[in-house]
Amino acid sequence: MLRNDQLDQWDRENFFHPSTHMGQHERGESANRVITGGSGVYIEDRNGNRLLDGFAGLYCVNVGYGRQEIADAIAAQAKELSYYHAYVGHGTEASITLAKMVMDRMPEHMSKVYFGLGGSDANETNIKLVWYYNNILGRPEKKKIISRWRGYHGSGLMTGSLTGLTPFHNKFDLPLSQVLHTETPSYFRRPDLDMSEADFVTHCADKLEEMIAAEGADTIAAFIGEPMLGTGGIVPPPAGYWNAIQAVLDKHDILLIADEVVTGFGRLGTMTGSAHYGLKPDIITIAKGLTSAYAPLSGSVISDKVWQVMVKGSDEMGPIGHGWTYSAHPIGAAAGVANLKLVDDLGLVENAGTVGAYLNEKMKDAVADHPQVGDVRGEGMLCAVEFVDDKASRKFYDPSRKIGPAVSAAVLKQGVIGRAMPQGDILGFAPPLCLTREEADKIVDATRAAITEVFG
Ligand code: PMP
Repeated sequence: MLRNDQLDQWDRENFFHPSTHMGQHERGESANRVITGGSGVYIEDRNGNRLLDGFAGLYCVNVGYGRQEIADAIAAQAKELSYYHAYVGHGTEASITLAKMVMDRMPEHMSKVYFGLGGSDANETNIKLVWYYNNILGRPEKKKIISRWRGYHGSGLMTGSLTGLTPFHNKFDLPLSQVLHTETPSYFRRPDLDMSEADFVTHCADKLEEMIAAEGADTIAAFIGEPMLGTGGIVPPPAGYWNAIQAVLDKHDILLIADEVVTGFGRLGTMTGSAHYGLKPDIITIAKGLTSAYAPLSGSVISDKVWQVMVKGSDEMGPIGHGWTYSAHPIGAAAGVANLKLVDDLGLVENAGTVGAYLNEKMKDAVADHPQVGDVRGEGMLCAVEFVDDKASRKFYDPSRKIGPAVSAAVLKQGVIGRAMPQGDILGFAPPLCLTREEADKIVDATRAAITEVFG
């Protein structure tokens, strides 16, 4: 086994980490945590720390760590057939079974699933399919995509453009010109504190209408949104938001892409966020909870309406010119089959609903009254605490004070992983769906202790 100082040196000399301050890391000024193991909701690092992972990796290890059933399924698949492609109608028992299991869990009007590797490439696929769809329909001008500020859809060229967080744009020459961003559905951050929730929903729908009118409905192809905002700060939509948005989209024949990379397969206590909020999407993006990150796999789930048009396209032009070498990779598919079975067998969708509600309620009771806590919010296994410099006016802290990172560092000292979310000082939790009430209590206790440490 390598010595810690050797690993540290190799890491800093060779490893370009995602979403990391490059200079600080290379110079050894930021932490280098080597993770060695995981079991249930806990991970262990090389220094012997055992940490409650309140973020399930990156909201993805939904069934928890160390599940023998999934490890066995992966090993069996690797031995039997480690790889074969899915082009020109090829499949494996695992990929075909997983396609069936996915479609059984999606809303009734959905028809097929295309498998990719991660959320970003699935959303890239989705936008290509939307363009293909409109070209087949003879509407070559109908191509722009509307996303929301603070939405997160990946970090590729198109998906980084869709992501409504400026660090994903700055110095990358993004967003691409076909992408527009509309209002963030955060009632807490509404433009006027006197607005009622219903007024704010009308405001969001009106802003969308204005954008469509300004651009011309015949230039707008699709609207993409997470049923509940994740990386942009864990923000449940205001009541009635999706009804109002869906009505605008339907009126202008604009497709709806529900990005369910975080919400798919149970995180909100329902199989999909679309079912949770009553959306009728044309395309659904799935990833993370599809395999609980035991292997990389994502999917683009296509409605019958879109599928029928695309079939017409390939009848005219031949096979679709889109595919990855690793689409429907058998090892990812085997992990997915074992994972979704485990989600069912352990009743994790229900658990996410009940223990998630418990976590959110306890968190509110424990910290909402603190003078620096502006908002405690969440649903299912998503929970966030937003800190403010002034409670009445909801004034943001000066970003240079790095309050969010300070609170998450203090939570870590308590043995719990929470995530400092971008766009304000927000501490987020997205634990594995198998969390127990006792473990939820630990998250809440650590948050309360961290707040006391940082603010007194
Ligand atoms: N969509 C959403 C809603 C996400 O949260 C993420 C990742 N956090 C992505 C897309 C991108 O997925 P990936 O990082 O697997 O490319």
